[in-house]
Amino acid sequence: MVNLNAHHSPVSAARSRVKIGQTEIGGGNFAVIAGPCSVESLDQFKTTAHAVLQAGANLLRGGMFKMRTNPNSFQGLGNSAYEIVRIVKEQTGLPFVSEITDPRQVGEMAEIVDMFQIGSRNMYNYSLLKELGQVQKPVFLKRGFSATVDEWLHAADYVTKAGNPNVVLCERGIRTFENKTRNTLDLNSVAYIKAHTAFPVVVDPSHGTGRPELIKPLAKAAAALGADGIMVEVHPCPAEAKSDGFQALTPEQFSELMQEVRLVLLALQQNPGRA
Ligand code: PEP
Ligand code: MN
Repeated sequence: MVNLNAHHSPVSAARSRVKIGQTEIGGGNFAVIAGPCSVESLDQFKTTAHAVLQAGANLLRGGMFKMRTNPNSFQGLGNSAYEIVRIVKEQTGLPFVSEITDPRQVGEMAEIVDMFQIGSRNMYNYSLLKELGQVQKPVFLKRGFSATVDEWLHAADYVTKAGNPNVVLCERGIRTFENKTRNTLDLNSVAYIKAHTAFPVVVDPSHGTGRPELIKPLAKAAAALGADGIMVEVHPCPAEAKSDGFQALTPEQFSELMQEVRLVLLALQQNPGRA
């Protein structure tokens, strides 16, 4: 059932450039958001943050509240991550992106988070979307892993309609019959969004493939196709990570990825991360 004609009619104007602290996503910048899946300790987060800053990332990520498929899996440090994040932000000066899992977290998280991430599992959480529509802080809206592009864009409309035009979309892969990779990274959606909507769109090749050896090639593909940035998971010791260690890049692998992405962007006359 392919509808090639009906395009998205946004209910309220989305912004094509979204400001996050001193930096911006959209408008020709190629944003690089990097960091661990979860904030685990001051040492782990600090080491990762300095490494990704050094490699040229311009935004830092790290989950404090995790939406895990299995309730027995690590759920994130929760409130005890705030102090760690505060220290590392101060040291690096990087704007910070983290997932919000409950509307009751908005007030406290707003003090430390520069962009609220809505995870794939919460893309359909309309009360959370409406709540984030009431703040002006940017929202990083991941695609639900079973969501069509239309459903995803309508989720974005919930935020803009409630009053917050600062939405950045994130393609993080969808569930298909393919099982060699964790998800199928749908780069069609990225090209579609660039062609037919004003929203900036970032690609997450970490969750999109679930395989470290595939992250660099897909990051380069994202750069070549005109995405507004990438989000990549990095951990100083992937084997010891409390979540998503199997897909984490080491700082060295991330730095190599940055060098190759830089070459792709150079061919396109752009710069990754910090110019
Ligand atoms: C994450 O970014 O660590 C995450 C949980 O992503 P997603 O919601 O896309 O699964
Ligand atoms: Mn993760």
